[in-house]
This record gives sequence, C-alpha cells and structure tokens, in this order.
Amino acid sequence: MSTKLKLFKDLEHEQVVFCNQPEIGLKAIIAIHSSVLGPALGGTRMWPYPTEEAALEDVLRLSKGMTYKSAACGLNFGGGKAVIIGDPKHEKSESLFRAFGAFIQRMNGQFLTGEDVGVDVNDMEFVFMETQYVVGLSKAHGGSGDPSPMTAYGVIQGMLASIERQFDQKTLRGLTVCVQGLGHVGMHLVELLIQNGAKVIACDIDPKLCQAAKEKFKIEIVDSNDIYQKKCDIFAPCALGGVLNEKTIPLLKCKIIAGSANNQLQEDEDAKRLKERGILYAPDYVVNAGGLINVALELEGYSAPRAQILTRNIYYNLKRIFQIADDENILPHLAANHLAEERLLKISQIRRAHSLDASKIRRIHAVETSHQESKKKVA
Ligand code: NAD
Repeated sequence: MSTKLKLFKDLEHEQVVFCNQPEIGLKAIIAIHSSVLGPALGGTRMWPYPTEEAALEDVLRLSKGMTYKSAACGLNFGGGKAVIIGDPKHEKSESLFRAFGAFIQRMNGQFLTGEDVGVDVNDMEFVFMETQYVVGLSKAHGGSGDPSPMTAYGVIQGMLASIERQFDQKTLRGLTVCVQGLGHVGMHLVELLIQNGAKVIACDIDPKLCQAAKEKFKIEIVDSNDIYQKKCDIFAPCALGGVLNEKTIPLLKCKIIAGSANNQLQEDEDAKRLKERGILYAPDYVVNAGGLINVALELEGYSAPRAQILTRNIYYNLKRIFQIADDENILPHLAANHLAEERLLKISQIRRAHSLDASKIRRIHAVETSHQESKKKVA
C-alpha cells in the first residue's frame, strides 16, 4: 500500500476485514467494495505477497474490480475479494482454509467466495466445512466445479467481439494468439483457441506447465520475458495483473488485448498508450466475467447450459461497450466503467426509492396507530 493512502479519507470500500490466526499461519484480508447490487461475491487469492501492504493494495483493487464486473455483466452481486498471504505451493493446509472459512462464516453472508489464483476446488472444500458462503464447489458437493473453463469460454467471446471490430472478421481461424500464463484459465483457453483454428504461442513461469502444454497441444512455448515481443494478432494476459504498463506496451506486436487476468492495466494512462499504438483493449473485467457468471448461478441452482448462454453474452456486452466508446469518443475501459456505474447508480436509486416507500408506510402506520390510540383515550 502506498503511504499516500489515508485510510478512511481515501478508501472507497465499505468494509475491510483482517483475518489473523498466527497459530495456524493464517493472514488474510477480505475487502467489500460495494454491496449496492447485493452481497459481495469474489474469489480468494493465495499469493506470497512481498509485503502485507502489497496484499492490502491488491485486495482493495481486486474487490473494486468485482463491483464493476458484476455490474457490467448484469449480475445482482456486490464487489468483494479476499487474499491469503502465503505460498500456495508450500503453505496450504486443511487448517488454514478451515480457519479462513470460519472468518467468512462470521460475516454472515455479506461475502461469498470461490477460487482465484493459487486456490483450487479442493481448498474450497475445506472452506466449505466451516461456511456455506462458498461457490465454485466441486460437482460432488452440488457445485458447478472449476469456473476456469467458463472463464476461458468467455475470453473467446471477448476475442470474437474484438476481432469483429478490429479486423471485421467473424472467426479466430488463422489468427495468432499469445497466451501469457498456462494456469487454470490459460490452459483451457489454449485448447479452445486451437479448436477455433487459431495458432497459439504461450508462456508460463512454471516449466512443468509449459512442458504439459507443449506436449498436449504442440504449441510454441517462449520464455515469459519474451512473450510481449512476439508478433501476434491477440495478446491474452492470463496470469497476474499490471502486465500492461509503460515498459511492456512499447514491446507489444499485437492488435488486440483480450485475456482473463484481472487489472491488466497498471494505470489508466496505459489504456491511452495502447490506443496510441493502435491496439484495441477489451476491458478485462468484461472479458473475464464467465467464471463469475458460472459461480453466481450456483446460488440459484446451477445449470451448465444457462451458464454458457449467459457467458456468450460477453460477446454482445463487449460490442455494446465498443459502441459506447465510439459514441462518446472515450476509451473502451472507460465505456465499460460508464456502463457499470450507470447500473450501480440506477439500482441504488431504486433501492432508495423502496426504502423511502417503506419508511412512508411505517409513518402512515404510526399515524394511524396514534389516531386509534388517541380515539381510545377520548372514548
Ligand atoms: P492460475 O494460478 O491457475 O494461473 C496463473 C498462471 O500464471 C500460473 O500458472 C502462473 O505460474 C502463471 N504466471 C504467473 N506470473 C507469470 C508471468 N509473469 N508470466 C507467465 N506466467 C505467469 O490462475 P487462473 O485461475 O488461471 O487465473 C488467471 C488470471 O485470470 C488471474 O489474474 C485471475 O484473477 C483471472 N481470472 C480467473 C478466473 C477463473 O475462473 N479462474 C476468472 C476471472 C479472472
């Protein structure tokens, strides 16, 4: 966290919860950015943050992103996120995730969570032992399973809307896509891209994943530092955030950015830098909403076909956002923000109208009651 942040003055968030259980090694932060549209829903990330401030900064940024993502894709959930400070390769345990689950339970439904980077379905089952406020559970537990395939399917929809706008082309056949990160989403994305006739170049910092992708899909694997310079049509960030920045943007040799990673732009200025380079940026939280749509449906009774239909809407949603960007002569990520903010404002006005009505009814009721009581007294 930058020392510039003066907590209560600068914080846009409704609630930040620090979960501290040293005897178990649990250090986690849950942030609720907004509950205007409903209870906050967002994944839990486990990452070896270099500092506690970096973890706080990440969770604040990610939870705000969830508010916008839910709002832009039409879901009735607020924005929240959690981070567990630790190395997912060495520090996972049943007690860690159950202790974390107990903290979520204490929030009594204000925050619902699922998997994110470093956390998988098996970890979520431990969380589920302590709280029912969990989504993305395994199918064996009545959940929808890993959301990553649906996220990858949504990224494909985002790519289709982007190529239509940028190349006036309807399919991915013959296009080259660079995929950064071969984790849960990246690996599924590679598979779908190949099925759609695209050529894929990929990287990951984990050599085992690179080897697995190379063997399974016969794709070109490059060093993680070289992925930005590779000539391609689409660059798909599917690892961590902040990868589009002052240093990387000048290296890019693509025409479109569309990937699953959250918070791809390091700063707003980077969207301008991309535009100046003639690169179309498909806003991350619109493109990667498939996983959220998938897990959200779990709460109303999961249906895979329905999840797929709703995720297909990412294509139409993105086309609408590109249209707003044209009409208002603004950058696509700002057009997405406008769409989300307008919905948040309108829904908050409906809620306010409802609560005003309710208070009027209470007042009328109170007046009637006091009339009756005074009549009684007179009688
Ligand atoms: P994951 O942890 O399974 O995969 C991330 C991969 O990125 C890992 O294999 C990691 O080794 C790799 N990586 C990290 N730094 C890298 C670098 N500099 N260069 C190359 N590879 C690097 O996570 P995931 O579930 O696949 O999610 C990927 C991204 O998509 C994250 O930003 C996540 O927040 C976002 N996202 C995921 C989902 C989902 O359904 N899983 C939904 C929405 C958004």
